[in-house]
Amino acid sequence: MVEVLEQMYEGKAKKIFRTSDPRLFMVDYKDDATAFNGLKKGTIKGKGYYNNQISAIFFKYLAEKGIPNHFVELTGERSMLVKDLEIIQVEVVARNIVAGSLAKRIGKPEGTKLPFPILEFYYKSDELGDPMINKYHIKALELATEAEMEEIAKISFKVNELLCERLAPLNIELVDFKLEFGRHQGKVLLGDEISPDTCRFWDTGTHEKLDKDRFRRDLGKVEEAYEEVLRRLTGGNKNV
Ligand code: UDP
Repeated sequence: MVEVLEQMYEGKAKKIFRTSDPRLFMVDYKDDATAFNGLKKGTIKGKGYYNNQISAIFFKYLAEKGIPNHFVELTGERSMLVKDLEIIQVEVVARNIVAGSLAKRIGKPEGTKLPFPILEFYYKSDELGDPMINKYHIKALELATEAEMEEIAKISFKVNELLCERLAPLNIELVDFKLEFGRHQGKVLLGDEISPDTCRFWDTGTHEKLDKDRFRRDLGKVEEAYEEVLRRLTGGNKNV
């Protein structure tokens, strides 16, 4: 049994603690919510619990399907044990349907289906507001090697396929999502979280938003949306 030691880092949505095992960290998910690079702040009651549980379900599922990731085990309602990663400072966004910043950038309405999934890369820097970058910037800035980016792109497309397959029977459309990766024992490993904070989930029939856009756009029923995603993933059974 690993013992939780001192807090090492506090981010916008999570706190990271050292543990008695130097190769493992404990992630504590917070109810704090931010949007627009920290300009909008708030609290979503229960978000820490929902995002921790939802991420754990996705990480377990992806590991079973051959996508290794940093998740080790749940340690509490809002916390999980993860492997240490040397975080690659690139955020990967995968998209199936036009929404959010892409709608603005290319002038197509939200909801336009893309002919095939696409990937975008962003430089993980709060100071710069996470600007979009391409593979040449990534190589020139030495954020990752070409081989690592090939692996990251391959994993991201596979994660997209697997998540779409998992969500389709639950009547959830995966519009887009963000992934983060790190280095672990010389390999690229999927890290961070997969939750309504980092994905756009739309109800397939009604196109109702079941994600953080409800907070970003003041649509109301924010907690309910997070709860609904977990409810559909567990079939209402919290001990799954
Ligand atoms: N996203 C994220 N963190 C970020 C930026 C985006 O998790 O810092 C997720 C977001 O939830 C959405 C996808 O990445 O699922 C694409 O976001 P987009 O570029 O459209 O930006 P947004 O409209 O959220 O500003």
